[in-house]
Amino acid sequence: MSRSDHNAATGGQPSIAAGCPVCAAQSKAVFDDLVAWQARLARSEEAQARFATMRGFCAFHMWLLQQIGDPLSLSHALAPVIEAWADDLDTVAEGSAAAVTVAAAQPRRRACPVCRSEREAGAQALHLAAAATLGPTESGDERLLCMRHLAALLADVTPKAVPPLARAHAAGLRALAAQLRSYLGKRAASRRQPATEDEQEAWRRALLFVAGARALRDEGPP
Ligand SMILES: [Zn+2]
Ligand SMILES: [Zn+2]
Repeated sequence: MSRSDHNAATGGQPSIAAGCPVCAAQSKAVFDDLVAWQARLARSEEAQARFATMRGFCAFHMWLLQQIGDPLSLSHALAPVIEAWADDLDTVAEGSAAAVTVAAAQPRRRACPVCRSEREAGAQALHLAAAATLGPTESGDERLLCMRHLAALLADVTPKAVPPLARAHAAGLRALAAQLRSYLGKRAASRRQPATEDEQEAWRRALLFVAGARALRDEGPP
């Protein structure tokens, strides 16, 4: 993702190689947060207790924690959570808590601290992207937003900012589509030609623009 895209750029067109800057900021915030949590959970009883009180992260971020964790750190993190759930179920079994408290104690997206980091980093990066649309467009450092974040930005900017934003992104996406088409053409059985690195990786960038970064989700209702 660090390669520049000068060869594909024409007429000040934003870079399609670097990926969505809002996705990048959010992904960094999420993984920084997860790495910090993982380190704290491995050695701090206070962090473990807090994690248990929350009953862990939302399901999505629990699996991301698993991706960066090892059996030892995950066991440190999960043992108090499992015990807390067992305590909850004991109180339900004894009749001192209603069955609905089990549903109520499930970690919610909005309450999950990693979700919060993701949301705050996204809002900040989107704000920067909005500011960039008002500034000079010849900086050569523009990056296309993924469709999810572009949609959020288009819904938020002044009407005057919409046409240049839409035009720049349409041009970038057409350049990406051209790479996909070129790759398909070169891979056709009749004329096998070597595809460029950009063409070989175009499908991956297309997915990122269509669906956003893999470590992020649609911000639907909580
Ligand atoms: Zn994005
Ligand atoms: Zn979460």
